[in-house]
Amino acid sequence: METEVVSKSELKKLNPVFGQLSFDNHEQVVFCNDKDTGLKAIISIHNTVMGPALGGTRMWQYNNEWEALNDVLRLSRGMTYKSAVTGLNLGGGKAVIIGNAKTQKTPELMLRFGEFVHSLGGKYITAEDVGMATSDMDLVRTVTPYVTGISEDKGGAGNPSPITAYGVFMGMKAAAYHAFGTNILEDKIVYVQGIGNVGEALVESLTNEGAKVFITDINKERLEEVRDKYNVNIYEGTNIYAEEMDVYAPCALGATINDKTLPQLRTKVIAGAANNQLADENKHGLLLKEKGITYAPDFLINAGGIINVYAELENYDKSEIIRKTENLYNTTLEILNNADANGITTHQAAFDVAKSRIDARKLKNNADQLN
Ligand code: NAD
Repeated sequence: METEVVSKSELKKLNPVFGQLSFDNHEQVVFCNDKDTGLKAIISIHNTVMGPALGGTRMWQYNNEWEALNDVLRLSRGMTYKSAVTGLNLGGGKAVIIGNAKTQKTPELMLRFGEFVHSLGGKYITAEDVGMATSDMDLVRTVTPYVTGISEDKGGAGNPSPITAYGVFMGMKAAAYHAFGTNILEDKIVYVQGIGNVGEALVESLTNEGAKVFITDINKERLEEVRDKYNVNIYEGTNIYAEEMDVYAPCALGATINDKTLPQLRTKVIAGAANNQLADENKHGLLLKEKGITYAPDFLINAGGIINVYAELENYDKSEIIRKTENLYNTTLEILNNADANGITTHQAAFDVAKSRIDARKLKNNADQLN
């Protein structure tokens, strides 16, 4: 048979799933299509060694299918390491629904999505992410038990965003201690990029502590609302990356630390809620280290949300949720110190802790199977 020579980019197109760089040994990827409701979703199960793959559902108007697949693969992989580094018995999974959450999300579409989740028999457990609310999860709960992030009045742990923000605040304080020798954020200049559910709650904690907060968002109404509520500054410039600041808190979407933005950064600390902040975790992690910027790994400090929904599976109460989330301060500090001691990036230090837990559990699971 004649073999054709194809370029790297053509190869990537021909192998859009297994050939993807971000496809990091995912166990299962499920494409869900329903003509009647218009549902087009991808459920990605990265790893179930530590437990069922738990991760939220994001609804987003992706430019193309490739973008959606890339996002879900990167996000589900991140969930594996997030749960492992936080010490939760959960694997990593995530789902994306392709579409505009404001105009295309219908009860029928959410129910059909819930049926697809149910068909996986508990291997994947969903929750909310960008574009989703607790009410959507309540709806999904009517067709499957494999959902968390349910309203408190329906027996769930409620909206995870305030807890996520609290964890980010704790992680930011640990990073501040590492960078400035104090964890007090009073008078520190903090830029919060994206003032949605998590960003707003973070702004509240920051202003309570007396930080000088600047906010950015693509939603003008939201900016004015949050400015008036907390008396913070709307960033009026055009390029926040080049601004001098103490802390940059990415709380919108991922990959804002990339080849273009990184050389411009004049912040001393990066600590925010967004998943996958580093476009390339090895390369950009290293460049941040070289620039002397303290980077609090996103998948560690934004774990409050998963701690919150995990309570629904493990039946622990609000005080335990708070205690576990508060402990992100200690874990972050430990990881930042480990990174220094071993001359590695903070991302790598967090990743190594997670990876060693997964490897140890895999050995134990294998041994248990033999017994
Ligand atoms: P959200 O949808 O409520 O808020 C996102 C905000 O970012 C919106 O106000 C949006 O207008 C804004 N935004 C979008 N693109 C922007 C841009 N280019 N510049 C500035 N602002 C922009 O989402 P959320 O629940 O607050 O989550 C924020 C981030 O944190 C997401 O990346 C999410 O994956 C991550 N996260 C959230 C949770 C949680 O509990 N909600 C947990 C872990 C991680």
